[in-house]
Amino acid sequence: MKRISILGSTGSIGRQCLNVVDSLPGKFEVVAIAAGNNVELAAEQTAKHRPRIVSVATCDGAKELRERLAALKVEPLPEILCRVDGMERVATHPDVDTLLSAAVGVVGLPATYKAVQQGKNLALANKEVLVAAGELVMAAALKQGKAVLPVDSEHNAIHQCLRAGERREVKKLVLTASGGPFRKMPASKFKDVTPEQALAHPNWKMGRRITTDSATLMNKGFEVIEARWLFGVRPEQIEVVIHPQSTIHSMVEFVDGSILAQLGPTDMRMPIQYALTYPERLASNGVALDWKSLKKLDFEAVPVRKFPCLRLAREAMERGGALPCALNAADEESVAAFLEGRLGFTGIPKVIERVLERMPRVTFQSMDDVLEADKEARRIAQEEIEKRKN
Ligand code: NDP
Repeated sequence: MKRISILGSTGSIGRQCLNVVDSLPGKFEVVAIAAGNNVELAAEQTAKHRPRIVSVATCDGAKELRERLAALKVEPLPEILCRVDGMERVATHPDVDTLLSAAVGVVGLPATYKAVQQGKNLALANKEVLVAAGELVMAAALKQGKAVLPVDSEHNAIHQCLRAGERREVKKLVLTASGGPFRKMPASKFKDVTPEQALAHPNWKMGRRITTDSATLMNKGFEVIEARWLFGVRPEQIEVVIHPQSTIHSMVEFVDGSILAQLGPTDMRMPIQYALTYPERLASNGVALDWKSLKKLDFEAVPVRKFPCLRLAREAMERGGALPCALNAADEESVAAFLEGRLGFTGIPKVIERVLERMPRVTFQSMDDVLEADKEARRIAQEEIEKRKN
Protein backbone atom coordinates (compact mmCIF):
# COMPACT_ATOMS: atom_id res chain seq x y z
CA MET A 1 0.00 0.00 0.00
CA LYS A 2 1.41 3.41 -1.02
CA ARG A 3 1.04 6.12 1.60
CA ILE A 4 0.30 9.47 0.02
CA SER A 5 -0.31 13.07 1.02
CA ILE A 6 -2.04 15.65 -1.15
CA LEU A 7 -1.54 19.40 -1.34
CA GLY A 8 -4.64 20.97 -2.90
CA SER A 9 -7.00 18.06 -2.13
CA THR A 10 -10.10 20.20 -2.77
CA GLY A 11 -9.00 21.37 -6.22
CA SER A 12 -9.66 19.88 -9.62
CA ILE A 13 -6.53 17.68 -9.52
CA GLY A 14 -6.89 16.90 -5.80
CA ARG A 15 -10.48 15.68 -6.21
CA GLN A 16 -9.55 13.55 -9.22
CA CYS A 17 -6.64 12.10 -7.23
CA LEU A 18 -9.07 10.99 -4.50
CA ASN A 19 -11.21 9.56 -7.27
CA VAL A 20 -8.22 7.47 -8.42
CA VAL A 21 -7.65 6.38 -4.81
CA ASP A 22 -11.31 5.27 -4.58
CA SER A 23 -11.02 3.39 -7.87
CA LEU A 24 -8.06 1.30 -6.67
CA PRO A 25 -9.10 -0.10 -3.28
CA GLY A 26 -6.23 -1.26 -1.08
CA LYS A 27 -3.56 0.49 -3.17
CA PHE A 28 -3.30 3.79 -1.31
CA GLU A 29 -3.58 5.20 2.16
CA VAL A 30 -4.25 8.95 2.35
CA VAL A 31 -2.03 9.99 5.26
CA ALA A 32 -2.44 13.76 5.08
CA ILE A 33 -4.28 16.41 3.03
CA ALA A 34 -4.01 20.18 2.66
CA ALA A 35 -6.80 22.35 1.28
CA GLY A 36 -7.28 26.09 0.85
CA ASN A 37 -10.57 27.75 1.77
CA ASN A 38 -13.07 25.05 0.84
CA VAL A 39 -13.42 23.81 4.41
CA GLU A 40 -16.73 22.07 3.75
CA LEU A 41 -15.17 19.79 1.13
CA ALA A 42 -12.02 19.30 3.23
CA ALA A 43 -14.30 18.07 6.05
CA GLU A 44 -16.11 15.63 3.72
CA GLN A 45 -12.80 14.31 2.38
CA THR A 46 -11.52 13.88 5.94
CA ALA A 47 -14.63 12.01 7.03
CA LYS A 48 -14.24 9.65 4.08
CA HIS A 49 -10.47 9.10 3.85
CA ARG A 50 -9.51 9.59 7.52
CA PRO A 51 -6.11 11.28 7.03
CA ARG A 52 -4.00 11.74 10.14
CA ILE A 53 -3.28 15.42 9.42
CA VAL A 54 -5.46 17.99 7.68
CA SER A 55 -4.36 21.53 6.95
CA VAL A 56 -6.33 24.46 5.53
CA ALA A 57 -5.29 27.93 4.34
CA THR A 58 -6.30 29.97 7.40
CA CYS A 59 -6.47 29.38 11.15
CA ASP A 60 -10.14 30.49 11.14
CA GLY A 61 -10.69 27.78 8.55
CA ALA A 62 -8.99 25.27 10.87
CA LYS A 63 -11.42 26.22 13.65
CA GLU A 64 -14.37 25.78 11.30
CA LEU A 65 -12.96 22.43 10.15
CA ARG A 66 -12.76 21.19 13.75
CA GLU A 67 -16.45 22.12 14.27
CA ARG A 68 -17.53 20.48 11.02
CA LEU A 69 -15.65 17.26 11.82
CA ALA A 70 -17.18 17.15 15.29
CA ALA A 71 -20.64 17.59 13.71
CA LEU A 72 -19.83 14.75 11.29
CA LYS A 73 -18.81 12.65 14.34
CA VAL A 74 -15.31 12.01 12.99
CA GLU A 75 -13.38 10.21 15.75
CA PRO A 76 -10.57 10.40 16.55
CA LEU A 77 -10.11 13.88 15.13
CA PRO A 78 -7.07 14.27 12.88
CA GLU A 79 -4.39 16.78 13.75
CA ILE A 80 -5.75 20.06 12.32
CA LEU A 81 -3.30 22.66 11.07
CA CYS A 82 -3.28 25.82 9.01
CA ARG A 83 -1.29 28.06 6.66
CA VAL A 84 2.02 27.32 4.95
CA ASP A 85 3.44 25.60 8.04
CA GLY A 86 0.48 23.23 8.04
CA MET A 87 1.08 22.43 4.36
CA GLU A 88 4.68 21.62 5.16
CA ARG A 89 3.66 19.19 7.88
CA VAL A 90 1.26 17.52 5.43
CA ALA A 91 3.94 17.24 2.73
CA THR A 92 6.62 15.90 5.04
CA HIS A 93 4.68 13.54 7.35
CA PRO A 94 7.19 10.79 8.22
CA ASP A 95 4.84 8.02 7.05
CA VAL A 96 4.31 9.52 3.58
CA ASP A 97 6.01 7.83 0.59
CA THR A 98 4.62 10.03 -2.19
CA LEU A 99 3.42 13.61 -2.25
CA LEU A 100 0.88 14.72 -4.85
CA SER A 101 1.62 18.42 -5.12
CA ALA A 102 -1.53 20.01 -6.58
CA ALA A 103 -2.09 23.34 -4.87
CA VAL A 104 -2.27 26.23 -7.30
CA GLY A 105 0.52 28.80 -7.40
CA VAL A 106 3.72 29.45 -5.49
CA VAL A 107 1.89 28.86 -2.19
CA GLY A 108 2.65 25.14 -2.66
CA LEU A 109 6.36 25.62 -3.34
CA PRO A 110 7.97 25.67 0.14
CA ALA A 111 6.12 22.53 1.28
CA THR A 112 6.87 20.69 -1.96
CA TYR A 113 10.56 21.62 -1.77
CA LYS A 114 10.81 20.42 1.85
CA ALA A 115 9.22 17.09 0.89
CA VAL A 116 11.72 16.62 -1.95
CA GLN A 117 14.61 17.53 0.34
CA GLN A 118 13.38 14.83 2.72
CA GLY A 119 13.40 12.23 -0.04
CA LYS A 120 9.66 11.90 -0.71
CA ASN A 121 8.59 10.75 -4.16
CA LEU A 122 6.96 13.66 -5.92
CA ALA A 123 3.94 13.47 -8.24
CA LEU A 124 3.88 17.03 -9.51
CA ALA A 125 0.85 18.90 -10.85
CA ASN A 126 1.71 22.28 -9.29
CA LYS A 127 3.79 23.45 -12.27
CA GLU A 128 4.59 26.78 -10.60
CA VAL A 129 7.03 24.82 -8.40
CA LEU A 130 9.31 24.17 -11.38
CA VAL A 131 8.64 27.48 -13.12
CA ALA A 132 9.69 29.47 -10.04
CA ALA A 133 12.39 27.22 -8.61
CA GLY A 134 13.15 24.45 -11.11
CA GLU A 135 16.89 24.39 -10.55
CA LEU A 136 16.65 24.12 -6.75
CA VAL A 137 13.87 21.54 -6.74
CA MET A 138 15.46 19.28 -9.37
CA ALA A 139 18.86 19.50 -7.63
CA ALA A 140 17.22 18.42 -4.36
CA ALA A 141 15.48 15.47 -6.11
CA LEU A 142 18.77 14.43 -7.74
CA LYS A 143 20.57 14.60 -4.40
CA GLN A 144 17.94 12.29 -2.90
CA GLY A 145 18.03 9.98 -5.92
CA LYS A 146 14.29 10.49 -6.49
CA ALA A 147 12.46 11.12 -9.75
CA VAL A 148 9.85 13.82 -10.14
CA LEU A 149 6.81 12.23 -11.79
CA PRO A 150 4.85 14.71 -13.89
CA VAL A 151 1.07 14.85 -13.59
CA ASP A 152 0.65 17.58 -16.20
CA SER A 153 -0.69 15.57 -19.15
CA GLU A 154 1.90 16.87 -21.65
CA HIS A 155 4.88 16.02 -19.44
CA ASN A 156 3.31 12.80 -18.39
CA ALA A 157 3.04 11.91 -22.09
CA ILE A 158 6.69 12.79 -22.66
CA HIS A 159 7.72 10.76 -19.62
CA GLN A 160 5.94 7.76 -21.15
CA CYS A 161 7.45 8.28 -24.63
CA LEU A 162 10.96 8.65 -23.20
CA ARG A 163 10.76 5.14 -21.80
CA ALA A 164 11.30 3.97 -25.39
CA GLY A 165 14.82 5.37 -25.80
CA GLU A 166 17.98 6.81 -24.30
CA ARG A 167 18.23 10.52 -23.45
CA ARG A 168 21.11 10.98 -25.92
CA GLU A 169 18.78 9.70 -28.67
CA VAL A 170 16.25 12.49 -28.13
CA LYS A 171 16.15 15.20 -30.77
CA LYS A 172 13.28 17.25 -29.41
CA LEU A 173 10.17 17.27 -27.26
CA VAL A 174 6.94 18.40 -28.89
CA LEU A 175 4.36 19.82 -26.51
CA THR A 176 0.84 19.92 -27.90
CA ALA A 177 -1.46 22.84 -27.11
CA SER A 178 -5.20 22.95 -27.70
CA GLY A 179 -4.95 26.65 -28.58
CA GLY A 180 -7.54 27.45 -25.91
CA PRO A 181 -10.90 29.17 -26.43
CA PHE A 182 -9.45 31.99 -28.58
CA ARG A 183 -7.65 29.98 -31.22
CA LYS A 184 -9.97 31.25 -33.91
CA MET A 185 -10.69 34.71 -32.46
CA PRO A 186 -8.78 37.56 -34.15
CA ALA A 187 -6.36 39.35 -31.80
CA SER A 188 -8.23 42.63 -32.51
CA LYS A 189 -11.13 41.27 -30.41
CA PHE A 190 -8.97 40.31 -27.39
CA LYS A 191 -9.52 43.66 -25.70
CA ASP A 192 -13.19 42.80 -25.12
CA VAL A 193 -12.62 39.27 -23.74
CA THR A 194 -14.48 38.63 -20.47
CA PRO A 195 -13.47 36.25 -17.66
CA GLU A 196 -16.47 34.08 -18.57
CA GLN A 197 -15.16 33.63 -22.14
CA ALA A 198 -11.60 32.94 -20.94
CA LEU A 199 -12.89 30.31 -18.50
CA ALA A 200 -14.68 28.33 -21.23
CA HIS A 201 -11.91 25.90 -22.22
CA PRO A 202 -12.87 23.75 -25.23
CA ASN A 203 -11.34 20.44 -24.01
CA TRP A 204 -10.35 20.42 -20.33
CA LYS A 205 -12.21 21.20 -17.10
CA MET A 206 -9.64 22.69 -14.73
CA GLY A 207 -9.16 25.33 -12.02
CA ARG A 208 -9.67 29.03 -12.87
CA ARG A 209 -6.02 30.07 -12.96
CA ILE A 210 -4.80 27.33 -15.34
CA THR A 211 -7.89 27.77 -17.52
CA THR A 212 -7.12 31.48 -17.92
CA ASP A 213 -3.46 30.65 -18.55
CA SER A 214 -4.61 28.26 -21.29
CA ALA A 215 -6.52 31.13 -22.92
CA THR A 216 -3.41 33.39 -23.00
CA LEU A 217 -1.13 30.40 -23.79
CA MET A 218 0.95 31.28 -20.72
CA ASN A 219 0.14 27.77 -19.55
CA LYS A 220 2.12 26.44 -22.52
CA GLY A 221 4.93 28.84 -21.69
CA PHE A 222 5.03 27.45 -18.16
CA GLU A 223 5.04 23.95 -19.60
CA VAL A 224 8.07 24.74 -21.77
CA ILE A 225 9.96 25.81 -18.62
CA GLU A 226 8.63 22.78 -16.71
CA ALA A 227 9.81 20.45 -19.52
CA ARG A 228 13.26 21.95 -19.52
CA TRP A 229 13.73 21.13 -15.81
CA LEU A 230 11.97 17.79 -15.80
CA PHE A 231 13.78 16.33 -18.79
CA GLY A 232 17.06 18.26 -18.78
CA VAL A 233 16.83 19.35 -22.42
CA ARG A 234 18.02 22.61 -23.98
CA PRO A 235 15.33 25.30 -24.55
CA GLU A 236 15.63 25.00 -28.33
CA GLN A 237 14.81 21.28 -28.08
CA ILE A 238 11.27 22.09 -26.89
CA GLU A 239 8.72 22.81 -29.60
CA VAL A 240 5.06 23.71 -29.20
CA VAL A 241 2.43 22.76 -31.77
CA ILE A 242 -1.30 23.49 -31.74
CA HIS A 243 -3.37 20.32 -31.77
CA PRO A 244 -6.99 21.37 -31.21
CA GLN A 245 -8.35 17.90 -30.33
CA SER A 246 -5.92 17.41 -27.37
CA THR A 247 -5.90 13.69 -28.15
CA ILE A 248 -2.14 13.50 -28.57
CA HIS A 249 -0.93 14.69 -25.18
CA SER A 250 2.63 15.30 -26.44
CA MET A 251 5.43 13.68 -28.48
CA VAL A 252 9.12 12.91 -28.52
CA GLU A 253 11.15 13.06 -31.71
CA PHE A 254 14.26 10.87 -31.68
CA VAL A 255 17.48 11.52 -33.63
CA ASP A 256 16.59 8.97 -36.33
CA GLY A 257 13.40 10.91 -37.15
CA SER A 258 11.06 8.52 -35.33
CA ILE A 259 8.33 10.30 -33.40
CA LEU A 260 6.55 8.67 -30.47
CA ALA A 261 3.26 10.16 -29.32
CA GLN A 262 1.10 9.36 -26.30
CA LEU A 263 -2.66 9.48 -26.91
CA GLY A 264 -5.57 9.28 -24.55
CA PRO A 265 -8.87 10.80 -23.50
CA THR A 266 -8.86 14.28 -21.95
CA ASP A 267 -9.13 12.84 -18.46
CA MET A 268 -6.58 13.83 -15.82
CA ARG A 269 -7.19 10.68 -13.80
CA MET A 270 -4.96 8.84 -16.24
CA PRO A 271 -1.76 10.88 -15.68
CA ILE A 272 -2.52 11.12 -11.95
CA GLN A 273 -2.74 7.34 -11.68
CA TYR A 274 0.41 6.89 -13.77
CA ALA A 275 2.38 9.28 -11.54
CA LEU A 276 1.15 7.63 -8.34
CA THR A 277 1.68 4.03 -9.43
CA TYR A 278 4.87 4.36 -11.53
CA PRO A 279 6.75 2.19 -12.45
CA GLU A 280 3.70 -0.10 -12.34
CA ARG A 281 0.78 0.30 -14.75
CA LEU A 282 -2.51 -0.67 -13.16
CA ALA A 283 -5.82 -1.37 -14.85
CA SER A 284 -8.02 1.71 -14.71
CA ASN A 285 -11.75 2.32 -14.52
CA GLY A 286 -11.29 5.67 -16.21
CA VAL A 287 -12.82 6.75 -19.48
CA ALA A 288 -11.23 5.11 -22.54
CA LEU A 289 -10.55 6.83 -25.84
CA ASP A 290 -13.43 6.31 -28.25
CA TRP A 291 -11.82 5.71 -31.66
CA LYS A 292 -15.14 5.92 -33.47
CA SER A 293 -15.66 9.54 -32.41
CA LEU A 294 -12.08 10.42 -33.33
CA LYS A 295 -12.36 11.68 -36.89
CA LYS A 296 -9.09 13.56 -37.37
CA LEU A 297 -5.97 14.90 -35.71
CA ASP A 298 -5.12 18.47 -36.75
CA PHE A 299 -1.92 20.42 -36.20
CA GLU A 300 -1.16 24.13 -36.63
CA ALA A 301 1.82 26.36 -35.93
CA VAL A 302 1.42 28.62 -32.88
CA PRO A 303 0.60 32.22 -33.86
CA VAL A 304 3.26 33.68 -31.57
CA ARG A 305 2.45 37.34 -32.22
CA LYS A 306 -1.17 36.74 -31.25
CA PHE A 307 -0.20 35.09 -27.95
CA PRO A 308 2.74 37.09 -26.50
CA CYS A 309 2.76 35.12 -23.23
CA LEU A 310 4.51 32.18 -24.88
CA ARG A 311 7.32 34.48 -26.10
CA LEU A 312 7.59 36.09 -22.64
CA ALA A 313 7.94 32.66 -21.01
CA ARG A 314 10.68 31.61 -23.44
CA GLU A 315 12.54 34.88 -22.88
CA ALA A 316 12.31 34.50 -19.09
CA MET A 317 13.59 30.92 -19.36
CA GLU A 318 16.52 31.90 -21.57
CA ARG A 319 17.53 34.89 -19.41
CA GLY A 320 17.14 32.76 -16.26
CA GLY A 321 17.91 34.01 -12.73
CA ALA A 322 14.80 35.36 -11.02
CA LEU A 323 12.92 35.96 -14.27
CA PRO A 324 10.96 32.68 -14.52
CA CYS A 325 9.90 33.17 -10.90
CA ALA A 326 8.89 36.78 -11.69
CA LEU A 327 7.04 35.55 -14.78
CA ASN A 328 4.89 33.29 -12.64
CA ALA A 329 4.33 35.84 -9.87
CA ALA A 330 3.33 38.53 -12.39
CA ASP A 331 1.00 36.07 -14.10
CA GLU A 332 -0.63 35.02 -10.80
CA GLU A 333 -1.28 38.67 -9.93
CA SER A 334 -2.50 39.73 -13.37
CA VAL A 335 -4.74 36.69 -13.87
CA ALA A 336 -6.32 37.31 -10.44
CA ALA A 337 -6.83 40.99 -11.39
CA PHE A 338 -8.37 39.96 -14.74
CA LEU A 339 -10.76 37.51 -13.09
CA GLU A 340 -11.77 40.22 -10.57
CA GLY A 341 -12.42 42.73 -13.37
CA ARG A 342 -9.44 44.97 -12.42
CA LEU A 343 -7.42 44.30 -15.60
CA GLY A 344 -8.33 43.67 -19.23
CA PHE A 345 -7.36 40.43 -21.00
CA THR A 346 -4.75 42.23 -23.14
CA GLY A 347 -3.35 43.79 -19.96
CA ILE A 348 -2.10 40.38 -18.74
CA PRO A 349 0.93 40.09 -21.08
CA LYS A 350 1.59 43.83 -20.82
CA VAL A 351 1.86 43.71 -17.01
CA ILE A 352 4.07 40.62 -17.20
CA GLU A 353 6.37 42.22 -19.76
CA ARG A 354 6.81 45.31 -17.57
CA VAL A 355 7.55 43.15 -14.50
CA LEU A 356 10.24 41.25 -16.44
CA GLU A 357 11.78 44.55 -17.56
CA ARG A 358 11.79 46.03 -14.06
CA MET A 359 12.86 42.93 -12.13
CA PRO A 360 16.36 43.18 -10.60
CA ARG A 361 18.90 40.64 -11.90
CA VAL A 362 19.59 38.07 -9.19
CA THR A 363 20.58 34.42 -8.99
CA PHE A 364 19.00 32.04 -6.52
CA GLN A 365 21.06 30.38 -3.83
CA SER A 366 18.19 29.29 -1.58
CA MET A 367 14.42 29.03 -1.31
CA ASP A 368 14.41 32.33 0.65
CA ASP A 369 15.84 34.06 -2.44
CA VAL A 370 13.00 32.58 -4.54
CA LEU A 371 10.31 33.74 -2.12
CA GLU A 372 11.91 37.19 -1.91
CA ALA A 373 11.91 37.52 -5.72
CA ASP A 374 8.32 36.27 -5.85
CA LYS A 375 7.27 38.98 -3.38
CA GLU A 376 9.11 41.72 -5.27
CA ALA A 377 7.63 40.67 -8.61
CA ARG A 378 4.12 40.74 -7.11
CA ARG A 379 4.74 44.23 -5.74
CA ILE A 380 5.84 45.47 -9.18
CA ALA A 381 2.91 43.68 -10.84
CA GLN A 382 0.42 45.41 -8.54
CA GLU A 383 1.97 48.79 -9.41
CA GLU A 384 1.64 48.02 -13.11
CA ILE A 385 -1.96 46.85 -12.69
CA GLU A 386 -2.79 50.08 -10.82
CA LYS A 387 -1.19 52.20 -13.59
CA ARG A 388 -3.43 50.56 -16.17
CA LYS A 389 -6.54 51.61 -14.30
CA ASN A 390 -5.83 55.31 -14.91
P1 NDP B 1 -7.82 24.41 -8.52
O1 NDP B 1 -7.97 25.89 -8.49
O2 NDP B 1 -8.98 23.59 -8.94
O3 NDP B 1 -7.34 23.88 -7.08
C1 NDP B 1 -6.30 24.51 -6.40
C2 NDP B 1 -6.10 23.86 -5.06
O4 NDP B 1 -5.13 24.64 -4.33
C3 NDP B 1 -7.36 23.81 -4.21
O5 NDP B 1 -7.35 22.66 -3.42
C4 NDP B 1 -7.20 25.06 -3.34
O6 NDP B 1 -7.93 24.98 -2.14
C5 NDP B 1 -5.71 24.97 -3.08
N1 NDP B 1 -5.20 26.26 -2.59
C6 NDP B 1 -5.36 27.47 -3.15
N2 NDP B 1 -4.81 28.42 -2.38
C7 NDP B 1 -4.30 27.79 -1.29
C8 NDP B 1 -3.63 28.22 -0.12
N3 NDP B 1 -3.37 29.52 0.10
N4 NDP B 1 -3.25 27.29 0.79
C9 NDP B 1 -3.51 25.98 0.57
N5 NDP B 1 -4.15 25.50 -0.51
C10 NDP B 1 -4.54 26.41 -1.43
O7 NDP B 1 -6.54 24.12 -9.43
P2 NDP B 1 -6.22 22.84 -10.30
O8 NDP B 1 -6.50 21.60 -9.50
O9 NDP B 1 -6.80 22.98 -11.65
O10 NDP B 1 -4.65 22.99 -10.48
C11 NDP B 1 -3.74 22.69 -9.44
C12 NDP B 1 -2.33 22.72 -10.01
O11 NDP B 1 -2.21 21.68 -10.99
C13 NDP B 1 -1.99 24.02 -10.74
O12 NDP B 1 -0.63 24.32 -10.56
C14 NDP B 1 -2.25 23.69 -12.21
O13 NDP B 1 -1.46 24.47 -13.07
C15 NDP B 1 -1.84 22.23 -12.25
N6 NDP B 1 -2.49 21.44 -13.30
C16 NDP B 1 -3.83 21.30 -13.31
C17 NDP B 1 -4.46 20.57 -14.32
C18 NDP B 1 -5.95 20.34 -14.32
O14 NDP B 1 -6.44 19.60 -15.18
N7 NDP B 1 -6.72 20.92 -13.42
C19 NDP B 1 -3.67 19.97 -15.41
C20 NDP B 1 -2.26 20.14 -15.26
C21 NDP B 1 -1.69 20.85 -14.25
P3 NDP B 1 -9.49 25.48 -2.00
O15 NDP B 1 -10.18 25.07 -3.24
O16 NDP B 1 -9.91 24.70 -0.78
O17 NDP B 1 -9.45 26.94 -1.76
